[in-house]
Amino acid sequence: MVMVMVMVMVMVMAMDLGDWRRLGQERYLPVGTVFVQRDYRALEENWEHDHCEMCSAKFMDPHFSNAHAQFIADHTDVLTAGMVTQVNERRLERWVCHPCFDDFATEFGWLITTS
Ligand SMILES: [Zn+2]
Repeated sequence: MVMVMVMVMVMVMAMDLGDWRRLGQERYLPVGTVFVQRDYRALEENWEHDHCEMCSAKFMDPHFSNAHAQFIADHTDVLTAGMVTQVNERRLERWVCHPCFDDFATEFGWLITTS
């Protein structure tokens, strides 16, 4: 029992509870949400980018158009791959960048699948 309490205290202390990226995402990315690592793919002309749910980093698809490929080449902060929720419908996907996934997956109880 004491061991468990010590472990919980260490976990809580390891979290930065004031992290600006934490905005109640557990409401739509609850414990047990399954993510898969994937290249970002644009959906359509009106939905050709997404943002990290935690830090708002931009995801773009270099294969969508030459203009997109050029934009990505000119903006090294734009991401082309990351972690995405495993859902049946593209429009329901939520993206999280690798650094944010590493920082929050344990705390939020997110899971990874390779399929
Ligand atoms: Zn992020």
